[in-house]
Amino acid sequence: MSLIRNIVVSGGTHGNERTGVRLVEKWMEHPECYSACCPGVNVSLVLANPEAMRLNRRYRDHDLNRAFSQTCLDASFEPHQYEFRRARELDRIYGPKGANTKTDLILDVHNTGSNMGLCLILSTRDPFTMKASAVLTQEFDEARIYYQPEERSASPYFGTVAKADVCIEIGPQQHGTLDARLFERTERLVKRYLELADEWNRGELQKRAPIQVEVFTQLRDLGYPKAWAGAPISAMIHPELLGRDFGALKRGDKLFRTFDGEDLLYEGESDGRDTVYPIFINEPAYYEKDIAMSLTVKSVEEW
Ligand SMILES: [Zn+2]
Repeated sequence: MSLIRNIVVSGGTHGNERTGVRLVEKWMEHPECYSACCPGVNVSLVLANPEAMRLNRRYRDHDLNRAFSQTCLDASFEPHQYEFRRARELDRIYGPKGANTKTDLILDVHNTGSNMGLCLILSTRDPFTMKASAVLTQEFDEARIYYQPEERSASPYFGTVAKADVCIEIGPQQHGTLDARLFERTERLVKRYLELADEWNRGELQKRAPIQVEVFTQLRDLGYPKAWAGAPISAMIHPELLGRDFGALKRGDKLFRTFDGEDLLYEGESDGRDTVYPIFINEPAYYEKDIAMSLTVKSVEEW
């Protein structure tokens, strides 16, 4: 990325993830909270899904953060579901998604019920988001990098409307609630991204020495065991795995517990890999998506 001119800070992409909602509302009322962070950069604040916020639900008709693929945005018909209309509106204001987008960077603040700490999700290997996120892993306990490579045009996430984005997943926090400690850490983290954007624009961030980071890269989602497709789930997350996001899960480790009390073990990957690092373990919003956890692989890199 060359100069960063336009940044969007968004909350409420999921209406019941209140850290981002309240952060954006607070900053709208008190611009002095962030305005000195990156002079010369236009920072826009957006509450992405007001209708879902009003309902205190993740979404009204359809998950907004699954509505930004180019196909969804381009469809010739006018969609009747609220979130598809809202996605087009946001794309008109902050996009259009693709090479001519007005927005250089979207920082989209989310919550998870999983024990993810401050999880920085990168969907591209963009030099600014890599360097800034690496710096933040040094400054914040429990800040971790999750790399989820996406073909940008096909990706359904709001952040992909910009040239680059970081999806900030803060947890554990029950959806629909707030946690003061997490709110304060999130506010500091988002401010640091803005300050680092200023450092980037001054050409200073690029000069920092390489930083060693652990990178958790998406491997695959793992569903709950079921007797057949469409059946109720037949097991729960194993109690010994619950809350152990980003920890190693090795072949033979306990993975699920059936309702009869039987332990189901992790059997390794079909390619022979025997250790993975699960995240989003037991995320409440993913029950409807049939995701029990996302499996990642860990590497150490210099960013
Ligand atoms: Zn979310």
